[in-house]
Amino acid sequence: MIANTEKGTLYFIVPRFPYRFVTDLKFVRETINKKGFSFPLSLTSLINLTDETQWNILVTDENISQINYDIKPSLVVLSAMTCYFERAVKIAQIFKQKNIPVICGGIHVSLYKNIKEHPFSSIVIGEGEDLWKAILHDHRNGVLKSLYHNDQHSPLVEINAEKVSRYIDFSKYTFYSIQATRGCPYDCNFCAVKEFNGRETRHRKIESIINEIEYAKKTNNDFFFVDDNIIGDKEYAKDLFEALAKQNIFWISQSSINIAFEKDLLELAASSGCEYLFLGVESTQKESLQLFNKKVNLSYQDKYDEVFSNIRSYGIEIMASFIIGNDSDNRDSFKQIIDFIEANNILLAMINILTPLPGTELFHTMSDTSRIIDYNFNHYDAQHAVYSPAQMSSSDLERGLCLTYQEIYNFKSLFRRARAALSEYMFFSKRNSSETNISFSQIIINLKIIIRLIYQLLLTNSFHVLIERMIFVFKMLFLVFDNKVRGKKNILIYILQGISLNDFSRQAIKQIQRTL
Ligand code: SF4
Repeated sequence: MIANTEKGTLYFIVPRFPYRFVTDLKFVRETINKKGFSFPLSLTSLINLTDETQWNILVTDENISQINYDIKPSLVVLSAMTCYFERAVKIAQIFKQKNIPVICGGIHVSLYKNIKEHPFSSIVIGEGEDLWKAILHDHRNGVLKSLYHNDQHSPLVEINAEKVSRYIDFSKYTFYSIQATRGCPYDCNFCAVKEFNGRETRHRKIESIINEIEYAKKTNNDFFFVDDNIIGDKEYAKDLFEALAKQNIFWISQSSINIAFEKDLLELAASSGCEYLFLGVESTQKESLQLFNKKVNLSYQDKYDEVFSNIRSYGIEIMASFIIGNDSDNRDSFKQIIDFIEANNILLAMINILTPLPGTELFHTMSDTSRIIDYNFNHYDAQHAVYSPAQMSSSDLERGLCLTYQEIYNFKSLFRRARAALSEYMFFSKRNSSETNISFSQIIINLKIIIRLIYQLLLTNSFHVLIERMIFVFKMLFLVFDNKVRGKKNILIYILQGISLNDFSRQAIKQIQRTL
């Protein structure tokens, strides 16, 4: 128990992810001198709700720095998704040995009902923001409960970025994490969003979002709207994009694919600085989409080709996500995905092995039929097969994924798609227009990137890989003289992305092959 006059210390820890995802774009991140992709939103909400007159706050994101096990906080605060839950357990065990209480919340403990033994002093089920003040009050009075439960979906916390900046260095991340809405109206059976965040879209006040951005952009001008579906409420999305347009920022987010057919929304998104959108394509096959209950995609499945050209024509890039391994998929399905990626010149593609995340309908169906073969949650990263697929073996599925990455992220294929995609862009987005009238500061930024790129290339530890990288760089630079491509996008970013994706495929293959 902490004496009422004494300040307690809260140590917020973000556990290390077991696996770097393709979205991390490590080579890009390191070349532009960033340590992490983005920070979790749970961190900003809880920091924001903590009374600094009563608590000292310490933060470690293990993805960018080491945990300090020598300090003695009064409470360690963890939040974990399924794929890094095991890491959270390990961290908690170490603090438990030192008699330091640890509280854990997040999607995994909220949705997985079978957690029996664990090292946490307390577990928070559901959204923790509403409970936070009561939890701190109980802890201060020495009556921390072993379980806190919130089954409500409350209004979203308005974030004061100035307060958060005292504990998180925004400049270390590629993107500043922000959230405007939470929840998604759709009902896909593999997705945990509707279980945890609900199907109704909750919004933050646009004025408050703009205040947050105005402060945060002093140190980071690139924003990641970590919304489940940025166009879940289209009217709100329009108002938001209109407000963002005055901010002179760049942003990325997640969207359902119907945005491709919403001309007004696309136009507003592009002119407000939208750089790229994560789209859940999931599958090119109708039967698979039906199995996923992916109704929004089923309505547009015969127009899939237009999705990419429509969005790209506004200068917005696409990170397309696919899922492989449902009951209608077989060995030919990998080839269907590869062909689709090639035909639509998709540069950034994320291919996920179907993963029965705890709490989802898929998890219940698979566990009820005893199809889950692996309960090591470190493997719930969408790169491992943790269940028995219907039409191939688990190892075929993992091997197929490796080969697919090899196929789509070799430099030859990357160059062909990058050139084709670049020629499709129109001079529309803010980024494009700012680059056609390239400013002095942009020249300096690009020069810095070139110097770091050369440095990074020199660090390549394989001569063979270095040669492949150099050839790719020269071919890409040559595109500057191509009339169809010239000035449409920053070629440098494409070079960094290409190397990053190629590098990812080599690492992913090594990592997955080790487990085969
Ligand atoms: S559209 Fe996306 S966020 Fe919404 S339920 Fe489906 S997978 Fe989840």
